Amino acid sequence: MLEIGLRIFLAAVLVASAGAAAAQSPPAAPTPIPMPPPAVGKNGGAPAAAKAGASPPQQAATGTQSSGASPQSPAVPVPVPAKELFGAVKTPTKLAARAIGGYAKGCLAGARSIAIDGPAWQVMRLSRNRNWGHPDLVKAVERLATNAQKLDGWPGLLVGDISQPRGGPMLTGHASHQIGLDADIWLTPMPPRRLSPKEREDLAATSMVAEDRISVDGKAWTPGHVALVKRAASDPDIERVLVHPAIKKALCDASQKDPQRAWLGKVRPYWGHEYHMHLRLRCPASSPGCTPQPPVGGEDGCGKEVADWLKLVSRPPAPPVKPEPPKPPMTLAQLPPDCRLVLAGAPVPARPLVRGRKAPHDTAAHADQKK
Ligand SMILES: [Zn+2]
Repeated sequence: MLEIGLRIFLAAVLVASAGAAAAQSPPAAPTPIPMPPPAVGKNGGAPAAAKAGASPPQQAATGTQSSGASPQSPAVPVPVPAKELFGAVKTPTKLAARAIGGYAKGCLAGARSIAIDGPAWQVMRLSRNRNWGHPDLVKAVERLATNAQKLDGWPGLLVGDISQPRGGPMLTGHASHQIGLDADIWLTPMPPRRLSPKEREDLAATSMVAEDRISVDGKAWTPGHVALVKRAASDPDIERVLVHPAIKKALCDASQKDPQRAWLGKVRPYWGHEYHMHLRLRCPASSPGCTPQPPVGGEDGCGKEVADWLKLVSRPPAPPVKPEPPKPPMTLAQLPPDCRLVLAGAPVPARPLVRGRKAPHDTAAHADQKK
């Protein structure tokens, strides 16, 4: 038993996200770790709920599992990684909607699912069961899809990961997306037909980035993409849109004569994000326990900032000689206390977060290892 418990723990450690890096800062910050380019979305990574159902109720309630007892040693509770607990739950809580904690350290009560087929969108990778979000975010995605189609002629959105039914850390893929306020929107236009469930698993996303890593691929990137990202970043509820630095540069180049610059400032360059843009909603006023990120500055980010990022992505730093040991996975005890209630489906009182620090600037980590 001890060996099995240890093995589960070690496996979880190995799978732990490497993306604890800053989501926003220019590359002067030493924290960003170059992510490997996402696999070409062939299969979209391991199914989200591969281990679903692995945690018996007792684990969910206590957040621990026994390491096993032997005549020599008493049982020592080993914290179950929170991603196993949240990854095993298939349904949302039937409670008032509330984003609890930070984008990369929290959970979600009262999630709503976005319809897998809408008039202007289709949800991808259905097996992951990650089409759950705070109702404000779901509305923002629906609004973007509808307006982009109606006003910009965009064919429609392919919607990637949002959050799990109760948010929280995920078994695969993301560091953020934990409080139902993050959504990945593919940059591949929606085909003019309903995709089958199998196609939604198998269809590969299209990279917008050229081989040089510092410019967009003219065969994939179009003026329609500029209009789409601008529309997303112009939504007052959307606080940030994360894209690959080469995409940010293309947006800057295409918008040189655009008198509106505020939306450009909300488009933040970051590792990955060459297949999709990542929408991040501001904390809803009705979620007092949501830990906000500082608002973006007033700059458009088209000068030194994007130039520095391009230097960085064209020559990623060499890996350290001796890699640091992976961080242990987040446990339930490290999440805001109300996340225990969310996991148990118990009512969450409406109160501001008492424990937990405000996220320092640019630290709501985001890592999409696979599209
Ligand atoms: Zn994302």
